[in-house]
Amino acid sequence: MGIKVSDRLRTSRGRYPVNDAFVVSGQDGRKRIEFSFAQEWGEERPIALEDLAGCLRASRDLDPDEICERIALFARKTGPLLGDAADEAVSDWQFAIGAAQEAIRMQEQVNGTRPWVSEAERVVKTTVTDPAGGVLFNCYNYTFGIGPENPGRYSSSIPSAPWVRTFSESRGGDYLFAVRSVEGGIEAFDICLVSCEGSLSLALLAQMLCFFNDQPLTRAALLEMGVGQLDGVDVAEVERMASALENENAVRFAETPVGKADAPHIQRIVQAMAALHLQRVTVDLFKSDDTGDSLAFDTFLSSLWYDFAMQLGAVKVGYCQECGAGFSLTGHRGLPKRYCSDECRTKAKNRRERDKVSRVRAMYMEGHSIPDIARELYAEKSERVAAKDIVSMLAKWPPLKQAIRDECAKKGEHPFARRCCEDGVISERQIELLEKRASRSGRQR
Ligand SMILES: [Zn+2]
Repeated sequence: MGIKVSDRLRTSRGRYPVNDAFVVSGQDGRKRIEFSFAQEWGEERPIALEDLAGCLRASRDLDPDEICERIALFARKTGPLLGDAADEAVSDWQFAIGAAQEAIRMQEQVNGTRPWVSEAERVVKTTVTDPAGGVLFNCYNYTFGIGPENPGRYSSSIPSAPWVRTFSESRGGDYLFAVRSVEGGIEAFDICLVSCEGSLSLALLAQMLCFFNDQPLTRAALLEMGVGQLDGVDVAEVERMASALENENAVRFAETPVGKADAPHIQRIVQAMAALHLQRVTVDLFKSDDTGDSLAFDTFLSSLWYDFAMQLGAVKVGYCQECGAGFSLTGHRGLPKRYCSDECRTKAKNRRERDKVSRVRAMYMEGHSIPDIARELYAEKSERVAAKDIVSMLAKWPPLKQAIRDECAKKGEHPFARRCCEDGVISERQIELLEKRASRSGRQR
């Protein structure tokens, strides 16, 4: 159900103004984000796909409550991601965020700002050879989840039909197929990119069919592509050739690691992911706003993917030094951004201060003088001011008081208590009291 009042406020980028967003549990137990729509636009902050992807990125595993909290916080800035409904499933957001995270990760590798780590690689590369070991083609497989099996709004925003794209080069080419699959109750998009050095021929088509013998959807897409690319393809003939290859075990394959040399192909997978998210973008020539382009986005998510796809080579992600969340640094200039939010900046500052206080106390216990500590840790302050702060940090510290008490309970000299007294951490009077109390309890014993 769409909202009518705000329809006039919808931007061509698929955004609606919201006052608030919060996560609620639906009757079916599924979490949903509820939006309250605003009657007018406030400040519209620029948001990038990297920011969306970053909202669930953390330096540690997030529990389900934290996930909801972070999504709600982000949803408050963006409004609905997938259209104009007043509520969206948290799971749709999670899948949408997951796909964005992976595309960005691959793009960072392509751009050389993230290392290629084959164990963590989601792209599986298979090298297909003939029995003599001659390479026929390479196949890159990548799968991204789009939602639970009963369709969510995210999965229905991505086309359901098989999707084929051909990238031709002077030598050979890349053939990309995207088909839907369901595994373990999760609906996914399987992207498969076949890369070959030679140009497409009947024999190569048969070899590809043979390799994909257990994937009917990909086979169908392959055949359709073959018919389109090669003149006078007899489908029955190609299939007969493929089954002959299979019987002779003439097509061998082995998984091979993905690395820097594969970057152009990984780039195409990222482009395909972007294209899949842009299938419903339309052209509106008579649109009247100041963006200067004529695209009309059906969802805010599609406009995020569009911006991302427009500057793939410049994609740059920063990570919050406090919580690990990622954020866009694409096109960022000036001082490097270190925190995702003011909240994290404050938290980090407080922690730095706490660390400094611990350092002050440890140094004092190690025997450093207050002027020494002041010079080492508070060079930016005047020595007098720093000394005063240090004394108060020490005076408020229970373990130090305990150490003085323990020392005064013993007979003889009390050098530590004297030192604290000279530094003004404890008063002469307090020490006298402690010493008196100790001698009294000594007599009683
Ligand atoms: Zn943060």
